[in-house]
Amino acid sequence: MDEVSEQPTYSFKAWGRRLGRRVIDFLAPPKCLVCREAVLEPASLCLSCWAHLRLIDAPVCNVLGIPFAYDQGEGAISPAALADPPQWDRARAAVAYDEASRRIVHSLKYRDTMEAGLLMARLMARAGQPLIHEADMVIPVPLHRFRLWRRRFNQAAFLSQQISRQFGKAYRSDVLLRTKASRSQVGLSFDERRKNVAKVFEVAPEGFGHIAGRRILLVDDVLTTGATVGSCAAVLKKAGAAHVDVLTFALVLEPKRPHIG
Ligand SMILES: [Zn+2]
Repeated sequence: MDEVSEQPTYSFKAWGRRLGRRVIDFLAPPKCLVCREAVLEPASLCLSCWAHLRLIDAPVCNVLGIPFAYDQGEGAISPAALADPPQWDRARAAVAYDEASRRIVHSLKYRDTMEAGLLMARLMARAGQPLIHEADMVIPVPLHRFRLWRRRFNQAAFLSQQISRQFGKAYRSDVLLRTKASRSQVGLSFDERRKNVAKVFEVAPEGFGHIAGRRILLVDDVLTTGATVGSCAAVLKKAGAAHVDVLTFALVLEPKRPHIG
């Protein structure tokens, strides 16, 4: 899939399908976003699925956002972040990536339902509040890592828009561009992922003026190895960004390799 084919294109058929889905969503009682059981509120989960979702709460590593077993004080940094500092300043995620959160991410990605996105944005706002407050601008990661994605919908952009609107922050999807197609990150090792996304992003010529000296909040749905957001952060810093934070809905916590760089 090349860059052009990943841009939103709205065919009449796709539009009709989305409209149909919205009419059904409107008429049908709200359902849990994970198990599809009936619930009282739209854009929510049943009690059982809430219990399975692993919210990431403080204390966390100030750089990687991974949870600490005990409070190590304000701004504490994990050994993994010290050993291999990432390109961004601080990362936060709302939940751990597991079966429950994966299904929410997929709801937004494949079912054309905005409800999952609203829930994700709500939880991200909770987890990333200080980062959002301090940001001058919210920017989505202009790349989607799953090659099988066909819906022409950038969920990172949707999440960025929701968060920027809620906090009254500037939103820009035109300053950071993906200039090269890269193969899917799925199944690649950490080093392969880093190579795969190297030199894939660049700042738009008219974007430099918006970025220089500003505090940027980069938004994506899932932080896996951090190769993609790391590459974005490096490009933004090179363009003069004063500070780059990362906010994602889910964070992959790998006990075997807690190293997220
Ligand atoms: Zn449920």
